[in-house]
Amino acid sequence: METKIFLDENEMPKKWYNIQADLPTPVDPPLNPGTGEPIRPEDLSAIFPMELIKQEVSSDRGINIPEEVLDVYRLWRPSPLYRAHRLEKALKTPAKIYYKWEGVSPPGSHKPNTAVAQAYYNMKEGIERISTETGAGQWGSSLAFATSLFGLRCTVYMVRASYEQKPYRRILMETWGAECFSSPTNRTEAGRMIREKFPDTTGSLGIAISEAVEDAAKHENTHYSLGSVLNHVLLHQTIVGLEAKRQFEIAETYPDIVFGCVGGGSNFSGACFPFVGDKLRGEKPEIEIVSCEPMACPTLTKGLYTYDFGDTAQLTPLLKMYTLGHDFIPAPIHAGGLRYHGDAPILCKLTNDGYMRARAYHQNDVFEAAIIFAKSEGIVVAPEAAHAVRATIDEALECKKTGEEKVIFFNNSGHGHFDLMGYDLYNEGKLVDYEYPAELIEKSLKALKNKT
Ligand SMILES: *Cc1c(COP(=O)(O)O)cnc(C)c1O
Repeated sequence: METKIFLDENEMPKKWYNIQADLPTPVDPPLNPGTGEPIRPEDLSAIFPMELIKQEVSSDRGINIPEEVLDVYRLWRPSPLYRAHRLEKALKTPAKIYYKWEGVSPPGSHKPNTAVAQAYYNMKEGIERISTETGAGQWGSSLAFATSLFGLRCTVYMVRASYEQKPYRRILMETWGAECFSSPTNRTEAGRMIREKFPDTTGSLGIAISEAVEDAAKHENTHYSLGSVLNHVLLHQTIVGLEAKRQFEIAETYPDIVFGCVGGGSNFSGACFPFVGDKLRGEKPEIEIVSCEPMACPTLTKGLYTYDFGDTAQLTPLLKMYTLGHDFIPAPIHAGGLRYHGDAPILCKLTNDGYMRARAYHQNDVFEAAIIFAKSEGIVVAPEAAHAVRATIDEALECKKTGEEKVIFFNNSGHGHFDLMGYDLYNEGKLVDYEYPAELIEKSLKALKNKT
C-alpha cells in the first residue's frame, strides 16, 4: 500500500469551498464597536481589497481561484496526503493514520495558500504595500514570499517574544524583501502606548495586529492583511481539504476523525471544512472533527463565546468568537502561532453548535508526540502542528485498546526547522508547562462583559 497519495497538477481544485453556503444558520456578523451595528463593506475598504470583502460575506458554495493564483500554487501544490505506516507500526495500532503535508510550500507551512491570494487581490487593486503582524514568523514570511512574487512591498510587526527566539524567520522575511520590526514598536501609537505601560512586555498577536492595522489605516496605497481568523482566509485554506478529499477517494477510504491545531483556526478549517460540509449536508453524519490547542492559550476549551475585539488596542471590529479577552497576554510557549486570544468566528460557531469539539494539551506532551513522529515518519513538525500529532497518537493508542480500525486524518500544517530551540529545551528536559490560570481568564472575561 502506498505511502503518499499524489494528485496531478491539473487535478488541483479550481474553486475554493465556501462553507457559508452550507451553514444551517448564518454566522453572526462583525459589529462596529462604536454603533453596535453590523460592519458595512465600505467600513473595511480602507484596509482590505474589495474582492476579499466580497468573499468575506459571500454565500456562493464555490469561489473561482484566479489563474495567476493557481499558477503560484503550482510551485508546491497539490501537496501530498501521507499514510503514516511507520507511525502506525511504532504505535502498534490498528488505526489507519493519514496526514496532509503542508510543509512543502517554500515558507514551510499552509500560510502561503492565503498569502498568495491576498497579495494577488491587493496587486489587482493597485495597492503598493501590505502591513501585517506575525507571531512565530510563519505568517510574516509567507506574506513576504507572496508579495515578492506580485511586486508589492511588505511591512511585518513581529511579536517580540518570537523576534528574539526566532531570528531565522526574520532573516527569511528580509530575504524575500520585507521589512520586519519587533512589536511593540515606536512606529505606531498603539505600540508606543503599550511600551509605556508595559516596558518588559513579550508582545502579543493582539498588540502586533493593532500596530499593523494602524499602519495601513494611516498610509495611502497600503492595505492590511490578516493570516488567519477571517472568513476569506479560511476560504483560501480549503484548497487543503478539497485536495485531501480527492486523495481519500483515490485511497478508497474516508476519515472517521479529523484533527488539526488551532491558532486562529485557518489551517484546521481549511483542512476540515470540506468534510464538515459533508456532515452539515447529512452525507457523513458520523465524522468527528476535533480542534487541538495549547493549555497555555485555551481559547475553545476555556474561553467565553461572545463578541470581542480582534486586537489589544480595540481597533478592529467586534467578532463573535470564543475568546480569552483581547488584553490576554499568553505565556511564551514554543507554539508561537497558537498564542491568539480568539479564534475564527465560523470555527467557533461550528464548535458552539456542536459540529466540532476541542481538546487542550501541555507543551511537554506535545513535544513528546513530535519526537515519536520524527523518529517514525522522519518529519520534524512545527510545534503548532505537533498538537494535532499528540491528538492523533492518543486516538491511535485508544484504538489499540479497543481494537478499532479508525481512519484518522490530521493536517500537518508545517515543518519545525526554525523551531529547534523548543526541541532543544525539550531534549534537555528544560521545557516548562504553562496552564493559563483560571483567575486570569475570569478577570479578563469580566472586564470584557463590562465593556460589551
Ligand atoms: C500559523 C500556524 C498555525 C496556526 O494558525 P492557524 O490559523 O490556526 O492555522 C499552525 N501551524 C503552523 C505551522 C503555523 O505556521
